[in-house]
Amino acid sequence: MPKAIPPETIVVIGAGVIGLSAALLLQSTLLPSQRIVIIARNLPHTESINYASPWAGGHYRPVPGTTAQLKQESQWARHTYQTFERIAAEDISAGVQFMRGIEHFESPSPEYVDVALDVNSSVYAHLSPSFRRISQKELADEQVKLGITYWTYCVNTPVYLGWLLRKFLLGGGVVKEYTLASIDEAFALGASDGGGVVKAVVNCSGMGFNDEKSFIIRGQTCLVRNPISYTLTRQGADGTWSFAIPRPLMGGTVIGGTKQPGDWNPHARAEIRETLLRNASKWFPFEGGEGGEFDVIRDIVGRRPAREGGLRVEIERVDVVAPDTMHGQKKEGKSVVHAYGLGGRGVELSWGVAEEVKALMLREGLIAERAAL
Ligand SMILES: Cc1cc2nc3c(=O)[nH]c(=O)nc-3n(C[C@H](O)[C@H](O)[C@H](O)COP(=O)(O)OP(=O)(O)OC[C@H]3O[C@@H](n4cnc5c(N)ncnc54)[C@H](O)[C@@H]3O)c2cc1C
Repeated sequence: MPKAIPPETIVVIGAGVIGLSAALLLQSTLLPSQRIVIIARNLPHTESINYASPWAGGHYRPVPGTTAQLKQESQWARHTYQTFERIAAEDISAGVQFMRGIEHFESPSPEYVDVALDVNSSVYAHLSPSFRRISQKELADEQVKLGITYWTYCVNTPVYLGWLLRKFLLGGGVVKEYTLASIDEAFALGASDGGGVVKAVVNCSGMGFNDEKSFIIRGQTCLVRNPISYTLTRQGADGTWSFAIPRPLMGGTVIGGTKQPGDWNPHARAEIRETLLRNASKWFPFEGGEGGEFDVIRDIVGRRPAREGGLRVEIERVDVVAPDTMHGQKKEGKSVVHAYGLGGRGVELSWGVAEEVKALMLREGLIAERAAL
């Protein structure tokens, strides 16, 4: 009789857009003896200010720049764009919809001006057939010094997270709702219920565990019923942002928004809502005419999980207490794959980061590419 292969588990910590995307992608590499367990404090359709993904606008807006980090992010963003193209074409119920994106700049920084001059060597290159600079005449607003437009997508994030989770469960994934005190705990918990050995833990916890570089960026937006047919972002000369992001499948429109590093206030501020709506009624062409009246569904306050120096995507070897030890004296080396600190770009980088996680794990022999038949 052939020898039975002992079971193996890969644990993914987190059920935000990063954890769910990574878990779903890794699922496609599993052998029959392997399983993936998601362990998360928050799951889709639960609400917590510290669970960023359901609060995301979530539209895609390329970010030009010359740093190695931004160049890497633009590759992940391109990959995510392509994946969302496929998802939107295959299944409307995912809550991903492509539409026109417009950006207005009152005082554009040089990177944006350069882009408008030479799109093909920029982070907008993959959008190039749809990309164009908007003429000053069309803009009809003296305060706006640069306008660009391109084909992009918006995601109804609460719907999309539910869709990802459903796919993961239908593919045989296991989910445990649990708040971990440490990464070590994930190795023990993942092995329970006949999970065998935990081969690796993928840390998609948003902020990481005791990472001194992690910090939050508070975001306040307002969800309204008023429809708008495209997504529009305006960067003010004073550094503020205004945006309107339609939520596909008639989920309303997100009007935003603030970026407040280190602001832990969990409550919506009335004066912020007032400013956001006043600016939106001035600048954004909502359907249903003039008047500036908004039908407010709710205020949104969320914390973007940011990190000094940018997101962390890497493998770390850690020593954890072996399961067969009485006094904790025996330790064994294990692999943790970190993928957290996405700040304000988690949705638009999600599939690129998930691919990076998979590539790192393949390189380390933690998973194997499934042989094609
Ligand atoms: C107002 C607002 C607007 C935004 N707009 C956009 C946008 O337009 N486009 C865009 O790309 N991004 C946007 N973002 C950013 C985006 O939401 C984040 O980058 C993204 O959600 C991060 O995903 P994540 O999976 O890393 O983290 P999260 O969604 O926070 O998920 C972390 C997961 O880890 C779990 N977890 C954490 N600690 C533990 C623990 N100790 N034990 C067990 N589980 C744990 C949590 O419960 C959760 O399941 C916006 C964010 C906000 C707040």
